[in-house]
Amino acid sequence: MQKFEKWCNFGVIDHKEEDTMSAKVKKTAHGGCPHDCPDTCSMVYEVSDGKLLGVKGNPDHPMTQGGLCVKLQDYEKRHYHPDRLLYPLRRTGPKGSKQFQRISWDEALDEITSKWKAIIAEHGPHAIMPNSYLGNQGLVHGLNGGDAFFNRMGATVTERTFCGEGSCTAWLLTVGPTSGLDPESFIHSKYIVIWACNSVSTNIHHWHIVKQAQKNGAKVIVIDSYASKTAKAADWHIAPKPGTDGALAMAMIHTLIEEDLVDQDYIDNYTVGYADLAERAKNRTPEWAEEITGIPADDIRQFSREYATRPPAAIRIGVALERNYGGGQAIRAVTCLPGLIGAWRHVGGGAMQFSVWEHPYKFDVISRPDLIPEGTPVVNNLQLGRILTGETKLETPIKSMMCWNTNPVTQAPETDKIIEGLKREDLFMVSAEHFISDTAAYADIVLPASMGAEMEDMILSWGHLYLTYNEKCVESPGEAIPNNEIFRRLAQRMGYEEENFQWSDSECLENYVDWDSPACQGIDLNTMREQGFARLNVGGRDDRAPHKEGNFPTPSGKCEFKVEGATNFVAAPFRQMYEGFQAGEALDSLPDYVPSRETADTNPELAEKYPLNIISPKSHGFLNSCYANMENKIKGQGEQFVLVNSEDAIVRNIKEGDKVRVFNDRGGFKGDARITSDVNVGIVVATLGYWRQLNEGTVNCISSAEFVDMGHAPTFSDNLVQIELVN
Ligand code: SF4
Repeated sequence: MQKFEKWCNFGVIDHKEEDTMSAKVKKTAHGGCPHDCPDTCSMVYEVSDGKLLGVKGNPDHPMTQGGLCVKLQDYEKRHYHPDRLLYPLRRTGPKGSKQFQRISWDEALDEITSKWKAIIAEHGPHAIMPNSYLGNQGLVHGLNGGDAFFNRMGATVTERTFCGEGSCTAWLLTVGPTSGLDPESFIHSKYIVIWACNSVSTNIHHWHIVKQAQKNGAKVIVIDSYASKTAKAADWHIAPKPGTDGALAMAMIHTLIEEDLVDQDYIDNYTVGYADLAERAKNRTPEWAEEITGIPADDIRQFSREYATRPPAAIRIGVALERNYGGGQAIRAVTCLPGLIGAWRHVGGGAMQFSVWEHPYKFDVISRPDLIPEGTPVVNNLQLGRILTGETKLETPIKSMMCWNTNPVTQAPETDKIIEGLKREDLFMVSAEHFISDTAAYADIVLPASMGAEMEDMILSWGHLYLTYNEKCVESPGEAIPNNEIFRRLAQRMGYEEENFQWSDSECLENYVDWDSPACQGIDLNTMREQGFARLNVGGRDDRAPHKEGNFPTPSGKCEFKVEGATNFVAAPFRQMYEGFQAGEALDSLPDYVPSRETADTNPELAEKYPLNIISPKSHGFLNSCYANMENKIKGQGEQFVLVNSEDAIVRNIKEGDKVRVFNDRGGFKGDARITSDVNVGIVVATLGYWRQLNEGTVNCISSAEFVDMGHAPTFSDNLVQIELVN
């Protein structure tokens, strides 16, 4: 634990409380943090008399290293929170009024399934849509846990592309499904670029490795449009204007080629399309990029030279890079950089996007895409408001939606439209939840769902190379049950007899992981139960260099700077493993800079009315909207604030602490102004996660539901707003 504290001054478990807690502990159990976070911490549950007393980071896990982040500081308080949902509920008041009455499980399940059967009889199964995300990352109870049920039903398939899916498309096109650079191997890196990731708040267990590498002599560069906690701890903070990272990356490509800083031998042997990329980058000079990004051309040259000449050079690609219209193309450009300088040759060199690609999960078994009837339509959960209000024309309009592991009212864009849609009297909505969230408030039936310590699972990790086990160590309170049990009971009432609907959670785990794969050599479910985690056999921290000699899992086996005939797609796990009705539009064969939709250059008329770019990063103290209903967590995080540059504040007569309203044509929200040089002129920052029922609007009220250029990713950072003083 002390080791962890040395790395990070941003808050870990209070040791005094911990000592008192330890005195009472009668039993410990292996846990896996289920939250939407790349760290997927291995945890130790502490239990006494059937009650969860607390949770610690597993000291044996090489990434967790005994420390958890502030969000999990008092995990048990979330389990035993007085507002926790304990019983099934039926709505009794107007939608959104939070008026419910307790009913039995039988009543709830009978009502749901009889409604669904009636809807299917009248409108067909396409009138029903599932809606889930990574509110739980478990293989059994998480993102894909309900896929088999809804695929069997023939319901409309829902793409879930809140975070990182455009990044996946760009990465897969360029280097294929590789986990790339091991996050632990950053310890060997000498030049580390954290590109669009606030690691201190969202990837702390990788950040502590980066800090150690920095102590060992590595230079750490953070690229972010505002001075995040991570940017402030960097050796060099480079702050391009929002949405211009693609121009910076293209100018780096230009400089590397122009100044002969490339590894020609690596390019000749292990890449495709170099000549065309060089031609594309010819005019993307640092001076051209300076105009777009606001970064001096000399800095771009220096950055490129350092990147090429201080091996091993590592890039951590953050999900925020995708959040402007040209995000996909920007990520393709960034993903080309290691191939150009041969960074992949070295342990500690290359790039890291999502480590998940080499995890041997059997998504076809989890999601059962074989059950999807031909011609099943697809909707996208970022556009929920448009879907439910009829703005998106569907052959079969949606008459029922089930939400679990997601809270679209706070997390999805165009909030006002979502609420308008959720208020529809003819929409039958089911919500499986822990609390009456902003979304569950509109449900017709609310089902109480179990939390982490109450169910067995293995937790998917997109940020390291370990399998992580979570033991059920306490009973759920009241009548709460795990998500998978909800689907088992629903399947039984719907008459679905496929054997997967009979599997226990343990049997699911036996079937959901390819235990016979080389990556799992020497690991089985019993190993997981005994150890709590296991490193995949995909090379070690000190020797993994998977693309030293190419071997990229692309069609050519090489890093593809150029991809002929590429078309847009969403990676299958984010669309119930369905391959029908993919986006399909033709993509540029080469990476490039693609401007944002909402800027003074691309939309001067809009910028006249709404002159400020808004960025809405994740909060330090909340995990998306989880914990944002807990008093102690709100205290730690602070009330909703808006970072404003003093020049922008002065002209609007805004002073420190003033209540301001941030708005555009899509809606608005209120927060307390913090006047700071952490943001440049023309930019405001407001973090995500606050609950609408506890605040006046939330940041997604102003967000557009338009997609970025790849993978149907969100444009959360491609929005113009105005701010004004609230009288
Ligand atoms: S939220 Fe992330 S960093 Fe925090 S305990 Fe969970 S996995 Fe670890």
